[in-house]
Amino acid sequence: MTMTNLPLLDSFGRRHNNLRISVTDRCNIRCFYCMPAEQVKFLPRAEILTFEEIERLVRLFAQVGVDKLRLTGGEPLVRTDIDRLIRLLKGIPQIRDVAMTTNAVTLARHAERLKLAGLDRLNISLDALNHDTFLKITRRDVLDQVLEGISAAQEAGFTRIRLNAVAIKGLTEAEVLPLARFAWERNLELRFIEYMPLDSEQNWADEKVLSGAAIRELVEHEFGPLVPAPRTDPAQPAFDYLYAGGRGRLGLIHPVTAPFCGTCNRLRLTAEGKLRNCLFSLEEWDLRSLLRQGVAEPLILEQIRTCVAEKRPGHLIGQQQFERPERTMHQIGG
Ligand code: SAM
Ligand code: SF4
Repeated sequence: MTMTNLPLLDSFGRRHNNLRISVTDRCNIRCFYCMPAEQVKFLPRAEILTFEEIERLVRLFAQVGVDKLRLTGGEPLVRTDIDRLIRLLKGIPQIRDVAMTTNAVTLARHAERLKLAGLDRLNISLDALNHDTFLKITRRDVLDQVLEGISAAQEAGFTRIRLNAVAIKGLTEAEVLPLARFAWERNLELRFIEYMPLDSEQNWADEKVLSGAAIRELVEHEFGPLVPAPRTDPAQPAFDYLYAGGRGRLGLIHPVTAPFCGTCNRLRLTAEGKLRNCLFSLEEWDLRSLLRQGVAEPLILEQIRTCVAEKRPGHLIGQQQFERPERTMHQIGG
């Protein structure tokens, strides 16, 4: 191994092999925990990385140990011909897993193309099955399209579909059991994630977080004791559980009440090519400028290493020193 392809280790010994790529900051809905309701300022097209630029960067990341990718946004399916990007990324020999997180609003018409392009896994965001609650969260009446999208993904042959639900106190408690039943019946994995301070209206507060522990209690009340599943990947953020009957899997991600920063292996590339070492990073490293200035690849790799080296031990949510990043979730890539 030469100096230039040493893995991306930070100063706490965390090895980074997982890159989340935001392909756009645009979205077709307006979840309140992620985006403003009105007058969202989107990036001009010319500022957004082209597919070829993303591919060039991923080839560099792959040289230094990145082998897992997730496409996100904004809503990745609003980017035209996203299947072309998937094909480019799947053509990189070191990349063993390309996943996507989507709100599934338009998935019904994309699912087959995504599967054919080689997309390995899909995470679908669904916080509520009740129309009113769904509308309150997303500010768009598109629950039926999302449900159609889920069915289409299953029909297209995606087998490892995971539902992601943000857990918000005072709003989604009543959704926990219907979502758990829906996922169980449809053979989908379900993960609840605690609401994080990345909303644009700055309304987040500690007491609005519906904790992983509270969700576990709700689910166990109906389904019986949950059995912790063996942790096959120590870097995975979720604590997974199996239902007592043996079928079905439930994950709880508690970034707020029990942070998993100690095993974090993720880097994030924003739609305009800024590299972040954490969702809550206060600094970013501009890779797009280097690419567009024609800077030599070893120097771009050096910038990537600097970003990793400067990663802090954790995000400090809930502590006095916590500082919210300026960007909201849709501008980072969830
Ligand atoms: N538009 C796609 C979607 O919603 O699936 C991908 C981007 S979205 C930013 C990625 C994930 O972040 C979604 O599952 C969303 O629910 C989650 N998310 C957004 N804002 C959040 C917040 N403030 N706290 C916790 N999760 C959040
Ligand atoms: Fe759009 Fe996803 Fe943000 Fe909701 S969470 S506004 S679907 S980017």
